[in-house]
Amino acid sequence: MNVMSLSRMTRCFRTSRALQRYLDGEADDLTAACVAEHLEECRRCGLQARTYQAIKQALRSGSRDVDELALRRLRAFSRSLAEPGGPGTD
Ligand SMILES: [Zn+2]
Repeated sequence: MNVMSLSRMTRCFRTSRALQRYLDGEADDLTAACVAEHLEECRRCGLQARTYQAIKQALRSGSRDVDELALRRLRAFSRSLAEPGGPGTD
């Protein structure tokens, strides 16, 4: 694994951890800026952000069953971060 992919993986990991706070509007300015920038450049994290938003929207609208497909995508994303090679290998 080279340095580039390692730093990219670190950014993805940090973004993943801060994403919920960011979407809830609870992240500090610096974190929010970093997350927003990363979501622009990273397709996978962008997808994760959309998935979170879909779940939040479903909860807000009073839907009882959150989209199972969205949850599965989210779990797959979390797993991909822990796997050797990590994101960006597709
Ligand atoms: Zn990412």
